[in-house]
Amino acid sequence: MAEIVVIGSINMDLVSSVERMPKLGQTVLGKSFKQIPGGKGANQAVAISRLGGDVAMIGKVGGDSFGAELVEALVKDGIDVSGVAVEDGVPTGIAAITVDETGSNCIIVNSGANFKVSSDYIDTNIEIIKSSSFVVAQLEIPDNAVMHALALAKSLGKYTILNPAPAKELDEETIRNVDLLIPNETELEITSGMKIENMEDAVAAAERLIAMGVKEIIVTLGEKGSLHVKEGFHKKYDAKKVKALDTTAAGDSFIGGIAAALSKGKSIEEAIGLATSAAAVAVTREGAQSSIPYINEIEV
Ligand code: ADP
Repeated sequence: MAEIVVIGSINMDLVSSVERMPKLGQTVLGKSFKQIPGGKGANQAVAISRLGGDVAMIGKVGGDSFGAELVEALVKDGIDVSGVAVEDGVPTGIAAITVDETGSNCIIVNSGANFKVSSDYIDTNIEIIKSSSFVVAQLEIPDNAVMHALALAKSLGKYTILNPAPAKELDEETIRNVDLLIPNETELEITSGMKIENMEDAVAAAERLIAMGVKEIIVTLGEKGSLHVKEGFHKKYDAKKVKALDTTAAGDSFIGGIAAALSKGKSIEEAIGLATSAAAVAVTREGAQSSIPYINEIEV
């Protein structure tokens, strides 16, 4: 039981570095291989915990060695895993990631046990949701489970945060159950159905979602920073100037910073300050959970 509950995916990232991407039918030798805990749900739970939040996770892993390792990693990070079940006979979710020398990547995600997180499974864990104040979700588990979790959280009076990733259109009921939506630019385009080419477009797209019932939006804009929009108000925040090495988990670190700070009673402005600093550290390091900083590494 914890102040914040994250409902979402838990994956093992299998990362191969290669000189050049293989062509169809070709085999290339890799330069290095790393196995790094990931999955947007787990990454955000880890970020919240490392940034000072009290967090529980609801999700599923398979009955294999990856599953056991991933749960152990969450426990090591101080996350309550009483809502993480082992689904025997199903593989743990994996992301097979290949990165070439230019930093371009190809990724195959096999959702595995993440797709066994059902509405019924959310209900089984209702006590964890009841005892929390904040519910954080993404879209790497089945859509109906996310919709159900948000509706349930709202009916219990919780503050809901949705990171609509990977990008999908959202139905109006889901939108109405979101207090704070945190999309990147692509996710904002797809959820709003509007093309975004500049800041005015981003504000207009966010305003459309607010008219549909989202209370507030923070759009992350990569190295351009972020944009906070609520009814009749918008403000742009700059990113920190750093030398980016790998942007994996930048968004997850940002969301972790927002949730951790809000749960400590900070304002959205202060929360964006922590989130921006945390994400700036994450982009200077490789990998998903391996790159997420701890609160004592942050300069706000
Ligand atoms: P996602 O990783 O979900 O696509 P973004 O790329 O928008 O999300 O990045 C999330 C946040 O990470 C940004 O709002 C910004 O604060 C930070 N960030 C991303 N890229 C950089 C960068 N090159 N330099 C500094 N901060 C960055």
